[in-house]
Amino acid sequence: MVDRRAFLQTLALPCLASRAAASDSDARFIVEARFYEKLPYKKIKCKLCPRECVIDDRERGYCGVRENRGGTYYSLVHSRVCAAHIDPIEKKPLFHFLPGTMAFSVATAGCNVNCKMCQNWDISQVRPEQVSSTYMPPAELAGNARQYQCPSIAYTYSEPVVFCEYVLDSADAGRAAGVRSVVISGGYIQQDPLKELCRRVDSIKIDLKAFSEKYYQEVVNGELKPVLNTIVTIRKQGIWTEIVYLVVPTLNDSDEEFRSLARWVKTEVGPDVPLHFSRFHPEYLLKNLPPTPLPTLERAKAICDAEGLHYVYIGNVPGHPAESTWCPKCRRAVVERAGFTVKAVHIDEGKCRFCRQIIPGIWGRPSHI
Ligand code: SF4
Ligand code: SF4
Repeated sequence: MVDRRAFLQTLALPCLASRAAASDSDARFIVEARFYEKLPYKKIKCKLCPRECVIDDRERGYCGVRENRGGTYYSLVHSRVCAAHIDPIEKKPLFHFLPGTMAFSVATAGCNVNCKMCQNWDISQVRPEQVSSTYMPPAELAGNARQYQCPSIAYTYSEPVVFCEYVLDSADAGRAAGVRSVVISGGYIQQDPLKELCRRVDSIKIDLKAFSEKYYQEVVNGELKPVLNTIVTIRKQGIWTEIVYLVVPTLNDSDEEFRSLARWVKTEVGPDVPLHFSRFHPEYLLKNLPPTPLPTLERAKAICDAEGLHYVYIGNVPGHPAESTWCPKCRRAVVERAGFTVKAVHIDEGKCRFCRQIIPGIWGRPSHI
């Protein structure tokens, strides 16, 4: 449970990554990339995300955190943490994963898309040299999570795909220390690295930005299809996943889009995958639009409920009943939430305490915490 004291403690913590600025040329941050192909004339092709950047010697890919040096490709952000905070897991949001626990949350600079509504553009749209960072190697990260009684590490804020070598190594270090790993991602990644992530982490939450290629082209500078493939693969690999859909007024909020989304989720990954409709606040390049009206979020939920999805949430609206988890059989609240606070959990051994319906997810708390 997140009690008041623990929550206030997290608010009082300084940003753990602000301790020291790292030298730009610090070799500790540089490791060979794992997913790329060597080409003639010292060129390389990055195979990490669907962009497949082809990069000349001494150049970087679109994400700005990977560099070709003499025909070998390197990540420049291994252990190069530019943001570190202790957050409730509900803030990610992951609602069916160790509710009421804290996640030790880290990011490096960089992202492989450029969302016009990005809330973290100051770290996602910059090169590593442009932000203050600290060296936090995997074992230290896992140790920090344990020290602050976080049963999980969350890779979040910017885009973990572009710092995937750090995620993979830290997930291993976390497992060795009894700490789980959750990835908070836009899901724009190729299948091989995705499957590698699925072997090493415990949950992947996907921000599905919209259900149209047009939106992905115009607002995200990415593609929808690879993200849908990502969600299907995560599910097939048996990794816990939840989907978040940020509802942006006039851009991705039609009944048809919500209905198409619900039907796709139900058919391709099943009605038990939680779907969160999150309220947009004007940010970055979309300051001209208003916050999402509550009736729009409730309309989205009503459409998806009617299509047969079992766990449809409304996010960024503290106090709304759709923040809680309701048993799809007896309709009682099995996880009661208010904002990021979990007030009660009525789930025993993965089942509703009232009617014994199975509630899918990863429940409970590791015994060592
Ligand atoms: S991860 Fe970066 S370098 Fe690799 S293809 Fe994607 S944007 Fe390009
Ligand atoms: S994927 Fe996330 S971090 Fe990257 S630009 Fe979009 S919102 Fe920002």
